[in-house]
Amino acid sequence: MALLSTIDFPLIIKKNDGFSHGRIDLHSHTHCSDGGLSPQTLIDRAVNYQIAVLAITDHDTTAGFDIAQEYISAKNIPIKLISGIEISTAWQGFEIHIVGLNIDVNNTAIQQLITEQQQAREQRAITIGEKLAKCGFPDAYHDAKNLAGEGSITRAHFAKVLYQQGHVGTMQKAFDQYLGKKGRNTQKAYVKPTWCSIEEAVTAIHAAGGSAVMAHPIRYDLSAKWLRRLIVHFKENQGDALEVVLPQMNPQQRQIMLNYCLEYDLHASMGSDFHQPNKWSDLGRNLTLPDDAKPVWAMWT
Ligand code: AMP
Ligand code: MN
Ligand code: MN
Ligand code: MN
Repeated sequence: MALLSTIDFPLIIKKNDGFSHGRIDLHSHTHCSDGGLSPQTLIDRAVNYQIAVLAITDHDTTAGFDIAQEYISAKNIPIKLISGIEISTAWQGFEIHIVGLNIDVNNTAIQQLITEQQQAREQRAITIGEKLAKCGFPDAYHDAKNLAGEGSITRAHFAKVLYQQGHVGTMQKAFDQYLGKKGRNTQKAYVKPTWCSIEEAVTAIHAAGGSAVMAHPIRYDLSAKWLRRLIVHFKENQGDALEVVLPQMNPQQRQIMLNYCLEYDLHASMGSDFHQPNKWSDLGRNLTLPDDAKPVWAMWT
């Protein structure tokens, strides 16, 4: 069962009161995309971090949901799992991530979009591999594919390969030197992706009964003018919510995001974007919505 019933959700979250009934984290990854943990291990970690409501939002796949839900049911774990996805989209030359929450993972529209996005990922990965081969790393595609296994192949897999093989000092350097794009500046192995549009992502999420959330609006390196344009475009295409709270945000950034929500009548979401354990962030850490925000989960009750 993917969709929340109207009965169980209010039991977990009565109001935006700091979540006395447990913590909420609506953005996380597993090894079904570029996360480091299996869905089961992620659930175990969420239990340890006292998460009451968790969304798995892997890049362009929903494969982790059934695995995690079966594990939760089999072990009778007290976590409300929200089905989710993080869809890569293209807008005005930027890559914008749209999170879908509380979706029916069996919906044909969302699965059709996933199939197309997976083809785009595979094609891009092959071309990235060709470019990295020209940089002196002939096995990069093969190794990244191996690392991704059955899951969505991402640039993070390439970055990890370059890092593990000692070609770069950190994964971030792999982006800075080979895989990334900064403004109009593209690195040697950057490949322009052929993602769907924001409109297509929102439409598929709605077809699957879910809410469409713009992921981490502060991370796109957009000027204030362009960020507003993006939010207006998202709203015009029926987007529902902004990710107002991320772990590494300062209060001013949070206030700016809240103001956009109020100005454009958007709901607010929050999530750690957890990939694997590290020093800087973890599941549920530093996540509380501002009082004036309309929580995205209010759409589900
Ligand atoms: P992709 O969706 O294939 O473009 O892969 C992007 C993923 O790489 C992101 O979801 C991040 O998890 C990871 N990543 C880490 N550092 C960076 C960076 N500097 N730029 C872009 N992606 C990064
Ligand atoms: Mn990622
Ligand atoms: Mn993202
Ligand atoms: Mn993410």
